[in-house]
Amino acid sequence: MSSKKVTPVQQLGEFGLIDRLTSGFKMKQESTLLGVGDDAAVIRYGEVCQVVTTDLLVEGIHFDLVYTPLRHLGYKAVVVNLSDVYAMNAAPRQITVSIAVSGKFSVEAIEQIYEGVKMACDRYGVDLIGGDTSASVTGLFITVTALGTARREELTLRSGAKVNNLICVTGDLGAAYMGLKVLEREKALHEQDPEIQPELKGYDYILERFLKPELRIDVLLALRGQDVVPTSMMDISDGLSSELLHICKQSKCGCQIYQDRIPIAEETARAASEFEMDPLIAALNGGEDYELLFTVPLSAHEKVKTIPGIHIIGNITDLKDHAVLVTQQGEVIRLEAQGWNAYRNR
Ligand code: ADP
Ligand code: MG
Repeated sequence: MSSKKVTPVQQLGEFGLIDRLTSGFKMKQESTLLGVGDDAAVIRYGEVCQVVTTDLLVEGIHFDLVYTPLRHLGYKAVVVNLSDVYAMNAAPRQITVSIAVSGKFSVEAIEQIYEGVKMACDRYGVDLIGGDTSASVTGLFITVTALGTARREELTLRSGAKVNNLICVTGDLGAAYMGLKVLEREKALHEQDPEIQPELKGYDYILERFLKPELRIDVLLALRGQDVVPTSMMDISDGLSSELLHICKQSKCGCQIYQDRIPIAEETARAASEFEMDPLIAALNGGEDYELLFTVPLSAHEKVKTIPGIHIIGNITDLKDHAVLVTQQGEVIRLEAQGWNAYRNR
């Protein structure tokens, strides 16, 4: 018997595991401009850079087919990848789609997934150029890889934020998470009593935000139109706190954001109050909004202010100032990837 040490995966967490698995790989190709650690990898071919990103969606982990229509699933699987391409300030061009399906799925069911894939391809102007198909013992797996292009000087990495930069987010936050909460609640009620039909009326906005996210090309185009290149950018897939911490870590800086500037839709706040939840928690820690988080130089303030859909929520600070939230009462709280604790050591 081997006495080798066995480490449970939970001990490292997702990001710790990725670090541990990938830190031993040194880049050998001159064309590899950026490897693991950003929204997408970057490969350079002369003037043009190619960005590549991939996401694996697993039934029961990333989606629940009880309340996720297959068409929406196909659509969202593509959109979440394109989101990572746009977050690099690149233009998506092609995708590949790979699926593994168990015996419970009919051809017609799989076709529905591809109707959604096609809708996303048409909506965002990308080509489906390949993939792979397999059987699976249980459940459904979908992997999408997205390819895009950008000129090097246009690329927006997570590592470019500078002290005094303004921190901006698009749209509003926490809506997708509240949409998910409503779907989970209705599922639980239906499971307890199959006579109860899901009551989803009045939740259109937050449900749509969860089931059918749309990407902020409008804001990217407006920034381009005003000649503003963000110093750093990423998409908000895991919640604002977690994403801000990524930018701070990779840009070696701190940040200060203000509670009263975090955009939360009325529908999100209303749903949160039904769950006796602070909507701020949904905005900070709920995921899947697929809005953009980016930083711009202070000199871009006037330009950014005029672009609809952009909210300036704070500023980048020195590394020693940590990542903090200033509450409406003026209390300073340290941001954490999950939840938040009173910030005492200042
Ligand atoms: P995102 O949330 O933007 O999709 P992830 O958190 O999934 O990004 O991944 C973070 C980084 O780690 C990315 O650069 C991704 O390519 C890389 N990565 C994730 N899993 C693996 C893996 N198993 N092997 C190599 N690289 C990985
Ligand atoms: Mg991302």
